Amino acid sequence: MNSGNEPTNSAPATAGPDTTNNAVAPKATAATLITNIAGLVTNDPSLGDGSPLGLIQDAALVIEGDRVVWTGESSKAPATDNRVDAGGRTVVPGFVDSHSHLVFAGDRTAEFNARMSGRAYEAGGIRTTVAATRAATDAELEANVVRYLREALRQGTTTFETKSGYGLTVEDEARALRVAARHTDEVTYLGAHIVSPDYADDPAGYVALVTGEMLDACAPHARWIDVFCEKGAFDGDQARAILTAGKARGLHPRVHANQLSYGPGVQLAVELDAASADHCTHLTDDDVDALANSATVATLLPGAEFSTRAKWPDARRLLDAGATVALSTDCNPGSSFTSSMPFCVALAVRDMGMTPDEAVWSATAGGAAALRRTDIGRLSPGARADLAFLDAPSHVHLAYRPGVPLVTEVWRAGAPVVLGRGARA
Ligand SMILES: [Zn+2]
Repeated sequence: MNSGNEPTNSAPATAGPDTTNNAVAPKATAATLITNIAGLVTNDPSLGDGSPLGLIQDAALVIEGDRVVWTGESSKAPATDNRVDAGGRTVVPGFVDSHSHLVFAGDRTAEFNARMSGRAYEAGGIRTTVAATRAATDAELEANVVRYLREALRQGTTTFETKSGYGLTVEDEARALRVAARHTDEVTYLGAHIVSPDYADDPAGYVALVTGEMLDACAPHARWIDVFCEKGAFDGDQARAILTAGKARGLHPRVHANQLSYGPGVQLAVELDAASADHCTHLTDDDVDALANSATVATLLPGAEFSTRAKWPDARRLLDAGATVALSTDCNPGSSFTSSMPFCVALAVRDMGMTPDEAVWSATAGGAAALRRTDIGRLSPGARADLAFLDAPSHVHLAYRPGVPLVTEVWRAGAPVVLGRGARA
């Protein structure tokens, strides 16, 4: 039954029309049928088993151009010119990593090693990376971004957000955003990561810079604005001023909120209709209620708790209250140096009270919600054809087999970008 996959010569030769909302089976032109999928996670509850994952067993999927145009059971698949045998693997939507910090230079191995030997994590460790990032050339920064993006792609991440925040001068922040914008549309201005060391005695002056000259230089290169709202970084009033200034320039808010301690970050995120409140490790009942009754996604970043031996965020509590939860890597050199969404799924299931289904949803559809995107994080007609193939009979294996490189092939926008290592044996 497993005749092997044939990804390289089966991709559509040309981009097709935008087939958004086209639920009709396509004609057999310039389309690619992927068949023999053991389990297909669509994240469309109107499909398959009717669960939030919309899981279809023995599934097939048709791609035209960069879009999914049909999903269903293999036996009902339409005829197409091109045909790919998934070899009994599982297919999930490409992971959506909605929170990373990839524009940096330097290394914090020594800090990690010290912390694992008993020293507490403090936000000020960021200063080490700021110094290294300022000293790096543009080419060095870009090479680093490309390296970690490739690493993430090999692990199934097809959409990622990334931020500035290690420059903390007008020119260094704008430079980071220019570098990031060459690789993703989801770029976040985080001049308010910490108060710049240059303004250690004048935090109000730094907030004025972040909301003034630095914002002017950065807004053209970013979609989002973010603040690290935390003791030792920015308080609620400062964070509100920064996010409000960004909104006035057309940037949409997201907030590093309630990571290290209780605080105003989550309430502020909801008040300002932020797309996401990120971390959410220390939440009051009022914080949970606010998230559950808003369009603000709670983005949980278990790599940070793992790498700092900190208390886990309580995903179960948020889900039971009705909040939308996303999972993301927070990939950065200080507090969470992982680019692996499968690793985050495994941690969320093991230690944060999520079911495997919930964790897979949060790493795909949840991430899309945290970026206010409807074209990714799902595999139903109209979605961008971003696929991660798992060498496993079920998506549950992402948590069941932690640390195992199950992602064997990745497609983005309708074409293979990581080639398959073969069908399931
Ligand atoms: Zn972060």
